[in-house]
Amino acid sequence: MIQKLLNINLLLLIACSFCFSQTAERWQQHVQYKMEIDMDVETFQFTGKQHIVYTNNSPDTLDRVFYHLFFNAFQPGSMMDVRSRSIEDPDGRVTDRIYHLKENEIGYHKIDKLEMDGAPCDYRVEGTVLEVDLPSPILPGASTLLYMEFNSQVPVQIRRSGRENKEGISLSMSQWYPKLSEYDYQGWHAHPYVGREFHGVWGDFDVSIHIDPSFIVGAGGVLKEGSAKKSPFKKKRVWEFRANNVHDFAWGADPDYNHITHTAECGVEMNMYYQDGPLASEHWPKLGKIMDEAFNFANARYGVYPYPVYNFIQGGDGGMEYPMATLITGERSLGSLVGVSVHELMHSWYQMILGTNEALYPWMDEGFTSFASAEIMNHLRKKGLIDGDVQVNPMYNSTKSFARFTQSGYEESLSTHADHYTTNRAYGAASYTKGSVFISQLEYVVGKDAFARGLKRYYNTWKFKHPNPNDFIRAMEKESGMELDWYKEYMMNTTHTIDYSISDITGDSGSTKISLTKTGLMPMPMDIEVVLKDGRKKYFTIPLRIMRGEKTHDYGAELKVLNDWPWTNASYSVSINQNLDDIESIRLDPLGKVADINTDDNEWPPKEVNP
Ligand SMILES: [Zn+2]
Repeated sequence: MIQKLLNINLLLLIACSFCFSQTAERWQQHVQYKMEIDMDVETFQFTGKQHIVYTNNSPDTLDRVFYHLFFNAFQPGSMMDVRSRSIEDPDGRVTDRIYHLKENEIGYHKIDKLEMDGAPCDYRVEGTVLEVDLPSPILPGASTLLYMEFNSQVPVQIRRSGRENKEGISLSMSQWYPKLSEYDYQGWHAHPYVGREFHGVWGDFDVSIHIDPSFIVGAGGVLKEGSAKKSPFKKKRVWEFRANNVHDFAWGADPDYNHITHTAECGVEMNMYYQDGPLASEHWPKLGKIMDEAFNFANARYGVYPYPVYNFIQGGDGGMEYPMATLITGERSLGSLVGVSVHELMHSWYQMILGTNEALYPWMDEGFTSFASAEIMNHLRKKGLIDGDVQVNPMYNSTKSFARFTQSGYEESLSTHADHYTTNRAYGAASYTKGSVFISQLEYVVGKDAFARGLKRYYNTWKFKHPNPNDFIRAMEKESGMELDWYKEYMMNTTHTIDYSISDITGDSGSTKISLTKTGLMPMPMDIEVVLKDGRKKYFTIPLRIMRGEKTHDYGAELKVLNDWPWTNASYSVSINQNLDDIESIRLDPLGKVADINTDDNEWPPKEVNP
């Protein structure tokens, strides 16, 4: 009996450790692409041979797979076209342009052959998604070879990718090949291409591009040594790129590209591909030195960039991020060129390395990126590399602007699927502005030091994986020792707003009583700055009871921790050991990090209101 009991215990132990490893190490699929692309630069048509070694690391048996056929979005009547013509506030770059494309201007991918381990597959093309019934299922842990031959037409550039963009770049090749959809712990993500961004399978790319010898190709990968050499016997030149541990591959090509290289202090090789123009010729050659300093800041604060190269490629319709590369428009002032370059580079951390699902959590890439860009631009101003004033809180304007937007009637919850916001305006305000405020306000909640450690912990735990909002919050909880679920739930799943005020200040002998009111539905810890008449400043913090912890330092000073504030209570008062006569002013949230919808009542003495 004893022996038997022991065995059962052992089995339980094994079962439990299995459960544990399943949650600690989330499984993910793996893909290895080898593509041979033959481009005709006269017709903008190309053929492709694609070998994919697909490994099913999931615990599920897969009897079908999906591919994205992004170029099919650029056809009259496509979901992207209808959406753009029916949404209240269409993207100015799209409007009804897809609807008016001619046969030789549309985009398409046509499948000529599709096999799994040599056996033909049944498939259907449904707009931008290819549904494939596999001839035999892929078992958990098994790998399979998916082979495809396809022919495609590059659409006139309308959104992100395409031919002949408005600056005359021949080929902006992003979201440009039949791309396997991701299957992860949340299931398949075969989202139709309606206009938003992407989610992909982690893996390696080996891409050979055969193209007219007059063209220069820049791509998100490392050019294979000896490739791209002109051959006098061949009509085309072959550019072969490798990109390992990424989830996408993009490139641009033009006969007029200048190519300059700058090796950053951190060792990353930056390549700039741009064509001459009144602004581009002057500003692009300055980009390397400035972005070098951006890399220094980013590596130190957000985690070390792991790839050998990064490429700034002129193309597209603004700025769009891809692994090891960005496609940006080039005719810009220096400030604008640096601004877009910093933003797209920061997506290397937030989406390219921390591969968040942009359809479900668009704020996790745009929000983090906007936050990091604000910090880096401020740093570059501090270093004198770009013009402008250095700010104490570089997120001040975004925080104010988000607080204003909550009052517009257009706000939708951050938990909305990226494609399904009612308006483009609501998507933008949520994913960029509220997303960045999410991060910046969290720094206020946990304090600068815990936040800095949390950013690194999040990066080091989740790089080359698909983190979700909870994974980020858990990293911050572990570094701060605070409970932060309430913060995530309020910020992500509600549109509740924050509104605190100083309701009364009264003096007693040797002490001052501060009374505060919470009017908004979302609770926050409250920091108080007391400025004394002799110029000294004192800092206090009121933690929320549900935080089960508090910060003790911030503003470069020690914080006096006051009694906690239960979120159910609309009012709070505290007496501090300070003579009211010695106090010059009292202010809530001194740096303006909190998206309080009315800050006029956050100061004492009250602000003079103009009659
Ligand atoms: Zn972005």
